[in-house]
Amino acid sequence: MNPFAYSRPTDIDAALTQIAANGAGDTALPSTAGPTPVPDLAPAVNAATPAAANQYEVRFVAGGTNLLDLLKEGVMVAPKLVDINRLPLDRIEETPDGGLLLGALARNADTAYHPLVKERYPLLADAILAGASPQLRNMASNGGNLLQRTRCYYFYDVATPCNKRTPGAGCSAIGGVTRQHAILGTSEHCIATHPSDMCVALAALEAVVHVQSARGKRQIPFAEFHRLPGDRPDIDTTLAPDELITHIALPPAPQFAGHSAYLKLRERLSYAFALASVAAALDIAEDGTIRAARIAVGGVAHKPWRIPQVEAMLQGQRPSDEVFGRVAEALLSGAVGRGSNNFKIPLARNAIVRALHVASRGTVTNWNVSTETNEGENQ
Ligand code: SF4
Repeated sequence: MNPFAYSRPTDIDAALTQIAANGAGDTALPSTAGPTPVPDLAPAVNAATPAAANQYEVRFVAGGTNLLDLLKEGVMVAPKLVDINRLPLDRIEETPDGGLLLGALARNADTAYHPLVKERYPLLADAILAGASPQLRNMASNGGNLLQRTRCYYFYDVATPCNKRTPGAGCSAIGGVTRQHAILGTSEHCIATHPSDMCVALAALEAVVHVQSARGKRQIPFAEFHRLPGDRPDIDTTLAPDELITHIALPPAPQFAGHSAYLKLRERLSYAFALASVAAALDIAEDGTIRAARIAVGGVAHKPWRIPQVEAMLQGQRPSDEVFGRVAEALLSGAVGRGSNNFKIPLARNAIVRALHVASRGTVTNWNVSTETNEGENQ
């Protein structure tokens, strides 16, 4: 582990002053107002972006559950660490419109078990509890969950080429072992998958990420926060190098609270990344037809995969596996396997149908299964 300077500010302005050394330059992305884009439109990264996002001078650290691993393994360097755990950003608060504002420093476990999160956003609570392990969820912050690196096992192995670790080095996964890798939104430079469960639910709930820098504040719609790899797989998000996540806003969504499900399929029951996961939420009218739907898929792309235009196919439909199957096919349109991850295409399709089927019957919590679990054990 490289030596690093360490500080622990107690107010936000002091923290932002320290991270300002990274400079935003031309990396600040355009206004995030406007409709939610489809996920194949990766936000452009300006050519003036620093050569290697892994080499920023200053980094914030909160729970440290991903960053410290990467520093110890020599995958990333951080000459200066700014510990933000003393900043006043750990609250979960109601907003006047009936939504919630999640502090960036609230821990994942505290968020999942918060009474208002469980009541209003059971989809989010369940997704968080499907991730990592109890110890990690106790340490990991909400902001850190969004900023954990999109990655694969080669990213951690410094003996192998990886464009995400060293831009221009090549991608060891292409032509290598690809069981965990992406089937959608890949590029010739990177085929890694986003590891978070929480972010899949946040995508479906249309969360908004509040960020702040010495230059001011802005809000980033969740669909625009994470990037597809394109030709800059070393840059995972649209957060500028001098910005701090302060909050994650959840818009009111009472129409979905009664019909939601998070399904995670993985190699074992705990502490494993998703091979495919689905956050499904339905707004069902009194006559049984679907008024609105939200579907986000994890484990299949460099970011949570969501296509609002496909969700619109469900409007006015009666729930049925036939209808859900058509939606799944549309969501996975263009999916391409690379040998050992070919199985993900039918797996994701079936997971989408199943999650929608269960959501149509009511909200199911703590419903996360391994690929080895029998059908009857999952209900
Ligand atoms: Fe690196 Fe991405 Fe290739 Fe994995 S898939 S080796 S993270 S460039």
